[in-house]
Amino acid sequence: MSPTQTAQLMNGTGLARRIIEETAARAARISQRTNVVPCLATVLVGEDPASVTYVRMKRARCAKAGITSRHVGLPATTTTAELVDTLAALSQDPGVHGILLQHPAGEHIDERTAFEAIAPEKDVDGVTMHSFGAMSFGLPGFVSCTPGGIVRLLDEYDVDPAGRHAVVVGRSAILGKPIGMLLLAEDATVTYCHSRTADLSAVVREADIVIAAVGRPRLIRGEDIKPGAVVIDAGYNPGNTGDVDFDTARSRARLITPVPGGVGPMTIAVLLAQTVDAAARQLGVQGR
Ligand code: NAP
Repeated sequence: MSPTQTAQLMNGTGLARRIIEETAARAARISQRTNVVPCLATVLVGEDPASVTYVRMKRARCAKAGITSRHVGLPATTTTAELVDTLAALSQDPGVHGILLQHPAGEHIDERTAFEAIAPEKDVDGVTMHSFGAMSFGLPGFVSCTPGGIVRLLDEYDVDPAGRHAVVVGRSAILGKPIGMLLLAEDATVTYCHSRTADLSAVVREADIVIAAVGRPRLIRGEDIKPGAVVIDAGYNPGNTGDVDFDTARSRARLITPVPGGVGPMTIAVLLAQTVDAAARQLGVQGR
């Protein structure tokens, strides 16, 4: 591709809409067959405005897809032990099929301990060690939603990671690490970068597929994008800005996700789809 051409945009909004429509149809079939409506429990500690908005958005999408949601709002003073008790009770509750703990849960909370209180069969956000292990071994289970969404987006645009060099910038447990494992499972050669990586630009320049998962506005510069590369920007920073300098990157990339409208909508779509999968399994009916 010549540098004067611009990349094709990867439309996450459109694909997410289709996944949610398909999920709504599956939810309706389950409800008809079992008289039970799939249910997602959302748990929020405190009232951080961004988290409140995220939870509200997720619940609104659930409602549109025929999934009920049960919200558990806990005070900011909630301890790790109290949060664990709440999550353990929801894990035992047959009326709840999926559990989402909105994170960050607060600095005083031991988030790993809290996540581990979610029963694996209800871990529709894919945050437990069990889910990460199953995903890494290629066994059935739930994937972390944003990485799961990225894989579906790549598939939609016929990007086959096999034999490609994928550079993942970021190594968080919910995003960087799992997307690297999913790409590895699809036979990509994966390099992880992080805050201690020496000469990030040099590594990114070698990438056929760039996954930006950092949370630093425009950290990845267009001049470092290999011509013809596929660029996935999972970053979401204030002012609707991604981790990639979109304007310069799009003149070198072959495919690129916009921010917003790329990875973001896919995350919620995967959450809803996995909630319906969980309900189908727990109710013993066909989920497809
Ligand atoms: P995180 O837990 O803060 O992790 C950030 C990662 O970036 C860390 O691994 C960190 O390295 C690395 N990093 C920081 N500065 C760097 C630098 N200068 N060069 C290279 N690597 C650097 O963040 P996260 O939860 O993974 O989220 C990352 C971004 O994705 C955020 O913008 C977030 O809003 C967005 N996000 C979007 C969605 C969605 O639905 N679209 C979902 C989740 C997250 P160290 O490990 O060395 O500290």
